[in-house]
Amino acid sequence: MAPNVYFKPLSGFLDRNSCFEAVLKALKPDLEEFGQGEIVGIKATIGESKESRFIKPQLIKLLVQRLKLEKAKPFVFDNNVIYKGMRQNAVDHLNLAYQKGFSPQELGCPFIIADSVFGTDSQAIKVKFKNLKEIKAPSLIGVLDNLVVASHVTGHMLAGYAASIKNVGMGMASRAGKQMQHSSVKPHIIKDNCVICGCCIEICPVNAISAKDDKAFIDSSVCLGCGECLSACKFNAVSINWQGDANILAERTAEYACAILSRIKRKIFLNFAFDITKECDCLAGNDPKIVQDCGIFASRDILALDKACFDILSVDKDAFAEEQKTRTHLHQFNYAKEIGLGSLEYNLIRL
Ligand code: SF4
Ligand code: SF4
Repeated sequence: MAPNVYFKPLSGFLDRNSCFEAVLKALKPDLEEFGQGEIVGIKATIGESKESRFIKPQLIKLLVQRLKLEKAKPFVFDNNVIYKGMRQNAVDHLNLAYQKGFSPQELGCPFIIADSVFGTDSQAIKVKFKNLKEIKAPSLIGVLDNLVVASHVTGHMLAGYAASIKNVGMGMASRAGKQMQHSSVKPHIIKDNCVICGCCIEICPVNAISAKDDKAFIDSSVCLGCGECLSACKFNAVSINWQGDANILAERTAEYACAILSRIKRKIFLNFAFDITKECDCLAGNDPKIVQDCGIFASRDILALDKACFDILSVDKDAFAEEQKTRTHLHQFNYAKEIGLGSLEYNLIRL
């Protein structure tokens, strides 16, 4: 039987908190399964310092309160990232989290960075996928029994459409695991377009870009494939093999998600489909929305959830494919099904 996907639309005068309350009410039997006294990890992302499009702590707090009502012991967590910014180490990351309202006082539970101060808690786990034979994730993954994944739906320059699969596959990997996934992405400079403005040089987290003969030059032996230079360049001078490189990245992210989730007993996934921009929560700032605010989705099947959410957002047109240079999300759905991450079929229950 196809897995259930709950959907509460943001319609009329319904505010976001009330919308989420309705979803949590529907999820009561699922939340009860976590059991009394059980520790439950809530995977969330706070976005970067200037970023205003992220799931607000007030919504996460509602989830915390509901889990506490079920006598569970929740905590919120994220991992460090490979980009330049305030989330490369746990000290800056936590300071930013507190600034943005993700403090224990405001959430009602601890907020932790799971892969340690410098992101070095990274255990190798053997897997058997087409692309990867090993993944790297924080040791938390081997011991956590209960997980709620709270994902903000966004566009993404490499992934096209990003929601729960991205939040788990990339977001729950350690920094080394993130690098491993990105290593298929090899940007190059289109010299005729480069005006040597320096933006890509400044943003590269590993100084792989320098000026050479009045043009930017990427040392591919140093490049991590993070893709930051692609979004930094406003002159269309940084490019990749969009479909090929991005598809491999999407497959690796699905492989990570599959390996990580197979180690966790009880899981619930939530997609918050509002404030959806072309760029993800690391970059979007106050960018305009590319689709109308939609609502909140929940399921125990991560693929069914992402697919149902995408289908509803794309009833009129695939805004994600229109905005990005790739249709990677469509490739990822099929690949995720092929490796057993979840179901492409779903039973949509409108609340
Ligand atoms: S951001 Fe673009 S235009 Fe500026 S230096 Fe880099 S490649 Fe050249
Ligand atoms: S060259 Fe571009 S893709 Fe490579 S590490 Fe630097 S910013 Fe990231």
